[in-house]
Amino acid sequence: MGVLPHALVLPYPAQGHVIPLMELSHCLVDRGFRITFVNTEFNHDRVVAALQIDSTMEQINLVSVPDGLDQEEDRNDLGRLTEGLMKTMPLCLEELIRKSSEAGDRITCMIVDESMAWALEIAKKMGLRPAAFWPASAQLLATLLRIPELTSKGVIDAEATRQEMFQLGPGMPPMNTAHFAWNCIGDRRTQRTVFNYILDNNRAIEIAEFVICNSFKEIEEPVFASAPRILPVGPLLTGLRPGRPAGHFWPEDTTCMSWLDEQPPSSVIYVSFGSFTIFDRRQFQELALGLEATGRPFLWVVRPDLTAASDDAYPPGFETRVAGRGRMVAWSPQHRVLAHPSVGCFLSHCGWNSTVEGISNGVLFLCWPYFADQFLNQSFICDVWKVGLRLMADENGIVKQERIESKVEELLRDEEMRSKALLLKDIAHRNISRGGSSSQNLQAFVDAMKT
Ligand code: UDP
Repeated sequence: MGVLPHALVLPYPAQGHVIPLMELSHCLVDRGFRITFVNTEFNHDRVVAALQIDSTMEQINLVSVPDGLDQEEDRNDLGRLTEGLMKTMPLCLEELIRKSSEAGDRITCMIVDESMAWALEIAKKMGLRPAAFWPASAQLLATLLRIPELTSKGVIDAEATRQEMFQLGPGMPPMNTAHFAWNCIGDRRTQRTVFNYILDNNRAIEIAEFVICNSFKEIEEPVFASAPRILPVGPLLTGLRPGRPAGHFWPEDTTCMSWLDEQPPSSVIYVSFGSFTIFDRRQFQELALGLEATGRPFLWVVRPDLTAASDDAYPPGFETRVAGRGRMVAWSPQHRVLAHPSVGCFLSHCGWNSTVEGISNGVLFLCWPYFADQFLNQSFICDVWKVGLRLMADENGIVKQERIESKVEELLRDEEMRSKALLLKDIAHRNISRGGSSSQNLQAFVDAMKT
């Protein structure tokens, strides 16, 4: 007999992890689940503060546990964060599960971010069905799971510092070992801590009955063929439905939607660099001037912390000159923006969520990656799916305004690319419609968690 499924959902404490796990939670609620969604206290407070008035749901219970850091500590210090999480979270999670049972509200399964896979040990210990979710490309996960093999082949050296291009398998875009997350951060000690944390999670993920991810078969076919344990259930697109908690750390500025309504079809350049990219002042100003030079309407997400000096960060007179044509917001309802017919292209840092959201809406990409797997995602966009162009820096490491202007024009003129993008959008939506491949995978997962 089936039980009423009640899932504990545990994201890694970063925006690009909380949002897709919240989307997955909505998919599960639609299929009869109740959810206990566990953020760190620090992020929980931000998520609750950013909630729109009507966006609560009784089937999703937002709860929190401490992350082991003091209030004022830097959560971008991944070494400290990792140590803090491991010190406090396991016991707090056990207690939360126990208390839920005592209150007659038993948690039946645990869906953890792969970057929190250590928590699957708790699921095992406490008799919950264990599952893992991966919020980036399947290729990246397949690569991380093969670290031991790549180490023995000498692609990754024991100190995890070697930098070289390699190809995981036929048909897969090449990757640069310099872009592994641990190679992009902090000092040697931090790198080592994060590298070991990944290895520990790789071991723990063996416990998971399912490893699902926000991707779909056609965009990473060679990976899914060679790593059948990774099951695509994407694209997750519940963010298109307003009035549901979306797990955002900043309140969405929805006024840009009516501004978009006033713009011609496929005319707007949407510019967003995700949740933690930082610009230096010189590059920020160059981007502003480049957007101005296009002469086209643009919607630009300028997070309060996008530059170190935000007050006078714009070039002199910029805001007056672009008034009406250019719109800056602190945080957008990105799913809805990308689905809007007036958006013509997406100037993006190529985070995986933004990548999937963009291709699912048939937009063209201008790629400006900064960090880690964003470079791999750029290769998918430009070389594999062919729905975008690279925006390269000059010899001084600056992306100049003239280049921004000319690349936007080149992109928007490319009809062949636009038809590819529309085809990809169609494939994405077929995947999650009734009988689609991702939809069937999700159903298999749901059925297993219910038994
Ligand atoms: N996002 C949003 N509004 C914004 C900017 C970003 O809702 O103004 C969302 C976006 O839709 C995506 C997430 O934030 O779901 C960012 O994740 P991504 O993997 O693209 O980048 P990261 O922040 O992890 O670098």
